[in-house]
Amino acid sequence: MTKADADWRARGACLSADPELFFPLSSAGPAVEQLDQAKTVCAGCQVRAECLEFALATRQVHGVWGGTSEDERQHVLAARTSRPLPAMASRVPAGAGRTAEP
Ligand code: SF4
Repeated sequence: MTKADADWRARGACLSADPELFFPLSSAGPAVEQLDQAKTVCAGCQVRAECLEFALATRQVHGVWGGTSEDERQHVLAARTSRPLPAMASRVPAGAGRTAEP
């Protein structure tokens, strides 16, 4: 960890929050409330941008970073590279996007 990493981490609003909020076990069911609570903490964090850039640069797969969920970071990365990431492509169910025959 570089000194710059340590600097922004030391100023994170999550330092005084329940760490479990930031690593919910799923993105559905009761975990949705956890995600919302974590994002609320991030919304008031002074190092949100640094945190998000770190998570994107280091491909953090799990947890809430910079106010984003795992899926949201996948979308940001895909938009930046203008192509879907393999992990996202595998989540699209077969037949997705098709319309019903008339
Ligand atoms: S943006 Fe969220 S996860 Fe990142 S340091 Fe701030 S409070 Fe913590």
